[in-house]
Amino acid sequence: MERKTRVRFAPSPTGPLHMGGVRTALYNYLFAKQRGGDFIIRIEDTDSQRFVPGAEKYIIEALNWCGIVPDEGVDASGNVVETASERHPHAPYRQSQRKPIYRKYAEELVANGFAYYAFDTAEELGAKRAEMEAAGQTFIYNQTTRLGLRNSLSLPEAEWKELLETRTDWTIRFRMPENRIVKMDDLIRGHVEVNTDTLDDKVLWKRADELPTYHLANIVDDHLMEITEVIRGEEWLPSLPLHYLLYEAFGWTETQPRFAHLSLLLKPDGKGKLSKRDGDRLGFPVFPLKWVNAEGEVSRGYREDGYFPEAFVNLLAMLGWNPGNDQEIFSLEELVQAFSLERVVKSGARFNADKAKWYNKEYLRTKSVSELTDLYIPVLEEKGITVSGESVDFAGRTFPRQYVERIVALIQERATFVADFWDIASYLFIAPETFVEKDAAKFWKEENYTLALQVADFILGFEGEFTKESLEGPLEEYIRGNEWPMGKVMNCLRLALVGASSGLGIADIVTLIGKEEFAKRIGYIKATL
Ligand code: GLU
Repeated sequence: MERKTRVRFAPSPTGPLHMGGVRTALYNYLFAKQRGGDFIIRIEDTDSQRFVPGAEKYIIEALNWCGIVPDEGVDASGNVVETASERHPHAPYRQSQRKPIYRKYAEELVANGFAYYAFDTAEELGAKRAEMEAAGQTFIYNQTTRLGLRNSLSLPEAEWKELLETRTDWTIRFRMPENRIVKMDDLIRGHVEVNTDTLDDKVLWKRADELPTYHLANIVDDHLMEITEVIRGEEWLPSLPLHYLLYEAFGWTETQPRFAHLSLLLKPDGKGKLSKRDGDRLGFPVFPLKWVNAEGEVSRGYREDGYFPEAFVNLLAMLGWNPGNDQEIFSLEELVQAFSLERVVKSGARFNADKAKWYNKEYLRTKSVSELTDLYIPVLEEKGITVSGESVDFAGRTFPRQYVERIVALIQERATFVADFWDIASYLFIAPETFVEKDAAKFWKEENYTLALQVADFILGFEGEFTKESLEGPLEEYIRGNEWPMGKVMNCLRLALVGASSGLGIADIVTLIGKEEFAKRIGYIKATL
């Protein structure tokens, strides 16, 4: 019988989720949704040494922001589910709360000869390593060294049984078989073979904290949660032979999930994995949300940098997957339709910060003026602008929402982020008090401004409807009819209105700010320059 597709994202809460991790979650989500399956979140927090407070919450919040909503693992308020219910039959979804489950599986492996008890202390292992390295050898805990170490395979039964009773720091290690070729299949990488002689006897369970290590907990939970495909980062590929052997040892090969290991996200330049350092060096975030670590160090996030979650999801999807044609813009729903593991690339995907911005610009263009205005209002408030009422009040820095909407509609095409609106056209809220020196030197010359002042009078005396549409034509005709230099005159006026010779068209600006404010700005530049 065809099993229902069930995939999981299984982060360890050891810090903020890197954008590569979000991509892994996204690909799992897309894969599940396309097949009408389940997407599960499981928190792998058995390594107490690496546990970071706040990381779990961050991970869930980041996925939520992206719209990557799980079917199981997290409830509607974004909490990891602790009790089983109809919707969450496999709870708890946090491994630290599943503690009692794992020991019996570890013991079962020992009972069947696939694992053994090990009693070596960290010092003993260190001494063995030093001894072998001094002899020019590398130490690994495996068939060639295990009999010279302290475990239930090397010690007399009475002795190890006593250690098992009296000591509380023993571990259970996997007994890696000798000289066996493990044959594996990866949905992205194809067939892979590894000889077990190159592998070590990994620790599966630790008596000291009564917890499994990643390998055991991961396999047991994937089995119990009926996972059908494991889609994860390539850093887990070296664990795959052990995982195959564990499925075999438990007798679970028939329902063993299929594996897909995703390649790395690469730095924009040079070799290697995209890191926070690259982001700091080249000025882009590598985390979905802002993160402040225990030392108070701040890492920027896509959300706080002004990215739309849809743009972030779209750009992530395209880092390592392509639709096989030149479509670049995909909503999450369209990605669900179009995604396939066959089109996920084997090689690393190079991150490009300009492309990331391009995505945001594309999404910004398609947003409604009203939505963008909602996002812009908090930015304006931070700048001391109040958005309320019905009339424009430059002195009181208060503007009606409708005024803001007209501005947003005008500059939407020019911006990459909502915050750019301010840089593009802050002069529509605050009169310039300084003038860009080189622009002033170039355009504010007597021969230009005497003409510009006459044009200003023409505008102030314009009797038609004071809109861009009705003013623009007559204004140009007036300048042209007088055979005045259009560019110079306009730039003079722009200098008065903007403080620089670049900006929106004169008819746009004056009809927005109104005659009164226009007259004031003309008066100010005359008195100042
Ligand atoms: N806990 C592992 C991680 O943090 C999960 C790896 C896997 O998906 O098997 O990446």
